[in-house]
Formats: sequence, C-alpha cells, structure tokens
Amino acid sequence: MSIIPSLLSGFEAFQKSYFGADTDLMARLARQGQEPQMLVIACSDSRVDPALLFGVEPGDLFMVRVVANLVPPYDPHAPLPAVSAAIEYAVRDLKVPEIMVMGHAQCGGIGGLCADLAGNDLADRDFLKPWITTARAAVAGEMENPDKDSLARRAEQAALRHSLQNLRGFPWIAERLAAQRLRLHGWWFDLDEGAIWAYDDDQDIFKHLAGPEPRPAAV
Ligand SMILES: [Zn+2]
Repeated sequence: MSIIPSLLSGFEAFQKSYFGADTDLMARLARQGQEPQMLVIACSDSRVDPALLFGVEPGDLFMVRVVANLVPPYDPHAPLPAVSAAIEYAVRDLKVPEIMVMGHAQCGGIGGLCADLAGNDLADRDFLKPWITTARAAVAGEMENPDKDSLARRAEQAALRHSLQNLRGFPWIAERLAAQRLRLHGWWFDLDEGAIWAYDDDQDIFKHLAGPEPRPAAV
C-alpha cells in the first residue's frame, strides 16, 4: 500500500494550520522570504527528522539532509559540491547565526564506513563508498579500540567531530566564527534512548543534553 494517501491527509492538516485564517506565517514567509535561525546538517535517515524532533515551524531551519550528515572538506574545485553549496547559501546569503551538525545512533552510513574499514569493502556501491569514506581518517582510529560494543557510537561521534572540523575550514565560516557572528553545534541523537548529546568543544566530549539521563554503567 502506498504512503501517498497518508501524505495527502498530512498536507490537508498542514494546509489548514498554516494557510488558515488564524495565521499569516506562510503568507509572511512567502512575502518577505525566509530568515532561518539555523542551518542543520542531518542524516537522510527516516528516523531522524530535525523538524519533527524539535517541533519547529516553517522558516526556522535551513536544512541539509545527507547520508551520515557528513560535511566534506572545503574544496572550491570539487566536481559536484551539493552540500557545500547549501552551506554557502545558508551562511553567506541567508546569514544564519548558528549551524548544527546532527548525528545519530544506528547510522547506516557510518555503519557502512566501519564495515569498509573492517575489510568488507563497499566497492560495489557507485556513490556511497566515495561519499562515506571522506570520513575514513576520522573514524579509522576508533577501529583500534577493543570495545566493539561502543564502536558504532564512537564512530558516529568521531565523524560528527570531523564534520565540525571541516566546517571550520570554510574560510567565510572561520571568519564569522572569529568575529563571533556564528556558532557551531554538534548534537548526537540517541534514537534507542530518546536522548540528545551535545559536543563540548573545550572538553572534547559529548555531554547529555536532553531526554532520559544515561543509565549508570553496569558493575
Ligand atoms: Zn545516518
């Protein structure tokens, strides 16, 4: 059975809420243009839609959804710089004051990268392999750690830190960071527990931010 009828009934509800008599939000956005408060770079994964997770309104978030929420390194000569083009538009044209990279648990893209690093080569994937292996160096060190239970989480968070680092390499982002006109955030959504962890730049760790507190480790 197709999802189309459900999409149409969802749109009907949206239409009533946002084009009805009680609000002029969409009319205002259409008239004045968008002025999003944040650029969010999130995974394409169907379980981690930032607009749903954070209950935002149209116009609030400028969004990039891409496999494994990876930010490529700054490279004006890259052949098809789709992600970088969206970042450039958000930062230089829309002048967003904040950027968030949002990773998540059970990320298939990072899982594929770990499998590739473990020797299960993804060479038969035309596009996935070259894309996810942009984070290869950042994640490779995690493979050395003998704690295999936490590998996925460590790899997802290492890739997220790598994306934040790559963002800092875009000259007009570095400029705005230095002038304190832009702030970077790295959040990791634990979809098993329903919690958010935020990257703390100073301590180089992820700290619990929202949702159920982490359970104490078993002794
Ligand atoms: Zn993912």
